[in-house]
Amino acid sequence: MDIDLLRNETPGCSQVIHFNNAGAALVSKRTLQAQINCLKEEANYGSYETAANYSEQLSEFYNEVATLINASPNEIAFTESATVAWLRSFYAIGFKEGDEIICDQSSYASNYIAFLNAQNKFGVKIKIASEGKEGEVSLDDIEKLISDKTKLISITHIPTNNGLVNPAENIGDLASEKGILYQLDACQSAGQYPLDVKKLKCDFLSATGRKYMRGPRGTGFLYVKQEVIERFNPLNLDLHSAEWIDKTTFKARSDAKKFETWEHSIAGKLGLTEATRQINELGISNIWDRVVDVATYLRVELSQLEGIEVTDTGSLKSGIVTFQVPDKSHEEIKAHLSRHKFNTVIAVKSGTLIDMSSRNLDSVIRASIHYYNTNSEIDSFVSCLRNYLHSE
Ligand SMILES: *Cc1c(COP(=O)(O)O)cnc(C)c1O
Repeated sequence: MDIDLLRNETPGCSQVIHFNNAGAALVSKRTLQAQINCLKEEANYGSYETAANYSEQLSEFYNEVATLINASPNEIAFTESATVAWLRSFYAIGFKEGDEIICDQSSYASNYIAFLNAQNKFGVKIKIASEGKEGEVSLDDIEKLISDKTKLISITHIPTNNGLVNPAENIGDLASEKGILYQLDACQSAGQYPLDVKKLKCDFLSATGRKYMRGPRGTGFLYVKQEVIERFNPLNLDLHSAEWIDKTTFKARSDAKKFETWEHSIAGKLGLTEATRQINELGISNIWDRVVDVATYLRVELSQLEGIEVTDTGSLKSGIVTFQVPDKSHEEIKAHLSRHKFNTVIAVKSGTLIDMSSRNLDSVIRASIHYYNTNSEIDSFVSCLRNYLHSE
């Protein structure tokens, strides 16, 4: 990858040092342009008319995402966010009293709130698989928790607050061997880590556009395995995802668009198409190698700074780098960093409550690295942190 060129084609790279790629990555010029062109045409010629003009480009969305995750275009739905994608698949399943859900300790707040909601609404039981020695969810524990009541295994691939990568493929082997539905939250892995739904053996996979995919805000996608599409109707069926036949009947679509609703941002969808196309051109394995290289450099440099504790666990680590500075205000450190144009975020306890509580963490500073970040950006980041710590 030509990093200088890719940086040149990313307007934000000359403005900020962006280590908030797990929050929202910087979009490329081409992704920005795809959206601007569409918005201008909508203003000039009408939105429905513009959508009709772009119908071919819009269908490319399904091809590009399918290529990225080795699915069929019919198995892809466009959504407004990862949460929308995840919730639509979750509530489509249809739970009854006594059904059991197995999840991992790093469950994202919105997902776990849905588990609790399903517990209150339908009487499902939540079982949390413990972590193994290295920090990944324990496969043995998942296996132990499986019973004849297990309806769903729902796993976070890469947590929002930790560098680890969960062994999603091994869990998929287990789920498919036992014939249990498997839902994968790939929100932080899509765009940085190679995803292959045939190897993951997942039934549902959800992701957002704005994070490692480098797409626009307000976009996301859902993958639903073909056999599973036919089994479940989502609760949000509308006149796009189903056809009204007569007074007593409707017919739901037979592809994953069944999980879409009619209204959505055309500019956003074109932007995410462009961002996904760029990933496919660059090659997701190349992206992953580069992300790991740069993130590893950051972890090593941080671990040599006195007063800083890198909090990432897991034997395989992603572009998400987290650390804490005991006895110092993370808010003030983040403010100091942003005064020097470094974008980071604070991952708070309530975002991943079970994991943070079990690791005794109140908050961590998250510096999430993408392929366009450089070792020299990291050098200046570390020296900015060092200056702050020494000035105290
Ligand atoms: C950000 C995030 C989500 C939610 O994504 P949205 O697009 O904001 O809905 C879900 N899961 C994980 C692990 C995340 O990091």
